Amino acid sequence: MSKNYAKETICIQSGWQPKKGEPRILPIYQSTTFKYETSEQMGKLFDLEESGYFYTRLQNPTNDYVAAKICELEGGVAAMLTSSGQAANYYAIFNICEAGDHVIMSSTVYGGTHNLITVTMKKMGIECTVVDPDASLEDLRKTVQPNTKCVFGETIANPALVVLDIEKFATLAHEAGVPLIIDNTFATPINCNPFEWGADIVTHSTTKYMDGHGMTVGGCIVDSGNFDWAAHAEKFPGLCTPDDSYHGVTYTEKFGKGAYITKATVQLMRDLGSIQAPQNAFLLNVGLETLPLRMERHCSNALKVAEFLESHESVAWVNYPGLKSNKYYDLGQKYMPKGSCGVISFGLKSGRVGAGKMMDHLELAAIVTHVADARTCVLHPASHTHRQMTDEQLVEAGVAPDLIRLSVGIENVDDIISDLAQAIEKAD
Ligand SMILES: *Cc1c(COP(=O)(O)O)cnc(C)c1O
Repeated sequence: MSKNYAKETICIQSGWQPKKGEPRILPIYQSTTFKYETSEQMGKLFDLEESGYFYTRLQNPTNDYVAAKICELEGGVAAMLTSSGQAANYYAIFNICEAGDHVIMSSTVYGGTHNLITVTMKKMGIECTVVDPDASLEDLRKTVQPNTKCVFGETIANPALVVLDIEKFATLAHEAGVPLIIDNTFATPINCNPFEWGADIVTHSTTKYMDGHGMTVGGCIVDSGNFDWAAHAEKFPGLCTPDDSYHGVTYTEKFGKGAYITKATVQLMRDLGSIQAPQNAFLLNVGLETLPLRMERHCSNALKVAEFLESHESVAWVNYPGLKSNKYYDLGQKYMPKGSCGVISFGLKSGRVGAGKMMDHLELAAIVTHVADARTCVLHPASHTHRQMTDEQLVEAGVAPDLIRLSVGIENVDDIISDLAQAIEKAD
């Protein structure tokens, strides 16, 4: 939008802006293809000489309006939707890495991302050094290699709830001449804009708070436009040398600040095809409209629940960055002064066994493989999402065997607390 509106306004008004006589609400462009009048018009699209829609695997207007809204919320220059958060992280990295390259990744990232980068991308010839997010800049510098192409971390790690020192990681990346990619899923652009702290690319699993209602799986990649690819052309030949699959187009020359997202769209989306269904993008857009309201409630509810758990005699430990006793309280205040997220982790004195029993007695909170939506839910990562990991990897990822991940919803907080209270009592 042209004016410098606040995020609440952007969430409602940005993206689709109808002109005279057009639908007030974002239309779902439920069409695989788009019509042209001359064969030359169509030819120019395939040469990237003109921009326009031709096939939904590459681009669809519904998706682009929603991507534009997220782009504005993050303060970026270009964005694209993907079919999932996994696809977003895969594309964000694979757009600038190929066989023989190297990635530096924080150890506490989401289990799915950990697996993607250290197992699946390794099979594609991309190596990774897993680093402690709390390591000193001096120690982190030792992990940089001549073939390093990006640094990757999460604003708030899922489910370890480690708050990343984004500025430290941005310094690490920029000294190495590579971009910092930040997965901002848990904080959302309402609570943190990683670009303001030096991140170059931001990714999201829109499946979480952005959708917010547990309806659609989706992802998004946003480019800040700040990383100067051409200044490090030798590291990024894919962006800075001619692409044979488009008659020798050089993305940085032809698309300037749009180079990174254009390449990810016309190359990766064309070849790998992880497009978000326009129907899902429509639902995501509805979720985005209330994101600021929901984040406020998620954060205030989570803080009250965390305080309740911290004062409970059967609770062994509580991890929530909003608690003053938390190791990451200061970093959280720095990067997310309005609040972090609605996810808490805790352990009971009765340990791993107690965790299972307590969960079985919950009436309001449901056991689901999901976090960060309107409904309060719980998960035991060691027996669910992270079960492929060894005990050693679990500890490295900040996931204790007794850890219960509690995603605090936007119900009345007293109801959430009394549900937990009765379940904890029965598990004792
Ligand atoms: C869920 C999640 C992902 C993966 O997203 P999907 O939409 O499930 O593919 C990536 N990163 C983080 C931080 C997540 O929480």
